[in-house]
Amino acid sequence: QAKAAGRNRLCFFDPATQAAMAELTALEADLRQAIDCQQLELFYQAQVDDRGRIVGAEALLRWNHPVLGWVSPARFIPLAEHTGLIAQLGEWVLQQACAQLGLWAREPHMAGLTLAVNVSAHQFRQKGFLGFMQQLLARSGAPTDKLKLEITESALVENVEQVIALMVALRSLGLHFSLDDFGTGYSSLAYLKRLPLDQLKIDQSFVRDLVTEPNAMAIARAVIQLGESLGLDVIAEGVETDAQRQALQQQGCHAFQGYLYARPLALQDFQALVQGWPAGTPRAGG
Ligand code: C2E
Ligand code: MG
Ligand code: MG
Ligand code: MG
Repeated sequence: QAKAAGRNRLCFFDPATQAAMAELTALEADLRQAIDCQQLELFYQAQVDDRGRIVGAEALLRWNHPVLGWVSPARFIPLAEHTGLIAQLGEWVLQQACAQLGLWAREPHMAGLTLAVNVSAHQFRQKGFLGFMQQLLARSGAPTDKLKLEITESALVENVEQVIALMVALRSLGLHFSLDDFGTGYSSLAYLKRLPLDQLKIDQSFVRDLVTEPNAMAIARAVIQLGESLGLDVIAEGVETDAQRQALQQQGCHAFQGYLYARPLALQDFQALVQGWPAGTPRAGG
């Protein structure tokens, strides 16, 4: 034990920490194989406008681990970021998403939909990211204007000038940007107006407490007004009840995502959802 070993010796992890570390190491090794072994899958969660139409989807990564079953991205994305595996993982996600957009472009029901893809700060700040996106968009045949990258405020904390230049270059390719989990990070309002964004995404923590907590309501309202004055779309995530939807809509929010409409679904299920959706989808090109 650490104490018996004396003050000047290295301390050892306690058994619980050691077990947790071993588990993480094992998970990391498994994650390295997940791409090749086809254990990763994109799920799709509907995004709905204030006329009730499905206007797009967010792609959410799922890992079907051979022993553990479905592992949440909340668990393996941080691990992938920590180990650098996020680069490979993120490229796979973007390749899948663009291939899917290319296929949807040829289906009348699906062609009008946008697809939002989460890009981690590490991935976004990697040197070759712009070149990768240029090549991917050129060869995938995906309609670029239907692709939306979701970044979080953590992507924006350092080298703001460089990040802005990157976003401008990516946007000149035609794609769009949404600022995910907005309100939970440390964005400075001063440079928010300089960022080439298209959308703010109200974090689900505010949406959850909207109807019961005046503070959450105040924050949601402030984000919606901020979006309005900056000329940005605002979407709310984690909308679970119609009361939440109504409250948001009353404040001027026009787009919603959450279990109220649909859970994240496997591709086939999502496509079936769209086909059978009463209010339909916007027309392609519209
Ligand atoms: P996020 O981008 O903020 O995604 C929203 C999360 O909220 C998703 O969790 C989604 O399943 C969940 N959600 C959607 N509607 C509701 C609702 O009505 N109520 C509640 N309670 N939750 C709802 P998920 O799929 O577990 O993903 C967690 C996070 O993992 C994502 O948060 C995102 O940060 C990250 N992530 C997911 N896929 C990717 C990916 O392909 N790349 C990267 N870099 N990160 C990803
Ligand atoms: Mg997201
Ligand atoms: Mg989010
Ligand atoms: Mg979130």
